[in-house]
Amino acid sequence: MGLEQIKSRVHAAETAAGRPQGTVRLIAVSKVQPAGRVEAVLQAGHRVFGENYVQESAGKWPAWREAYPGVELHMIGPLQTNKLKLALELFDAIHTLDRPSLAQKLARQVQAHGTCPQLFVQVNTGAEPQKAGILPDDADEFIASCRSLDLQVAGLMCIPPEDEPSTPHFRHLRGIAARNGLTGLSMGMSADFESAIAEGATHVRVGSAIFGARDYG
Ligand SMILES: *Cc1c(COP(=O)(O)O)cnc(C)c1O
Repeated sequence: MGLEQIKSRVHAAETAAGRPQGTVRLIAVSKVQPAGRVEAVLQAGHRVFGENYVQESAGKWPAWREAYPGVELHMIGPLQTNKLKLALELFDAIHTLDRPSLAQKLARQVQAHGTCPQLFVQVNTGAEPQKAGILPDDADEFIASCRSLDLQVAGLMCIPPEDEPSTPHFRHLRGIAARNGLTGLSMGMSADFESAIAEGATHVRVGSAIFGARDYG
């Protein structure tokens, strides 16, 4: 597939949705990809990346940030509170604010740090028991509690159930965002980023369609 092709598909989807080109942020999800594939995308000029694991990111991104100025790194995987401090050093955005204990620890760290990454609340739109995220019914209260902790929430994120069409989940997320006055929508992956853009995604997280299949070895 490759970066250029995905970029043009993103632009086409923006146009089809009546949105100006460049309004959707394409996050290239580079978790567990071989370094050579990531470097090729960096050399092609792309600067916005997503990672799932704090430790893995700590091992690769500081050097790439030096070599390629302007990198913007998004944390899109589950975040353990004992990795939070390191995560704040590494990431420009966190898409997985998914529970009150994390919000409380984050608020404390942000006060100590003085800076806060861009924050997305992960909503478990399918209410799947095995999946992280705030349940839709609890979202309004959780967003309000983040705000009362002085955390500025930029938007919402979801990962729809694998065995269902994504569009109803994207719509659901957009509705929760709208009623809470939030404009950011992190939704859509390799298989469904175009429908996410049609539903108003501001950030799409695309891995395998850019880099090729992941080999977890
Ligand atoms: C891995 C991952 C992606 C990218 O998945 P692809 O199907 O390879 O595009 C997007 N979002 C999250 C949360 C992920 O964990």
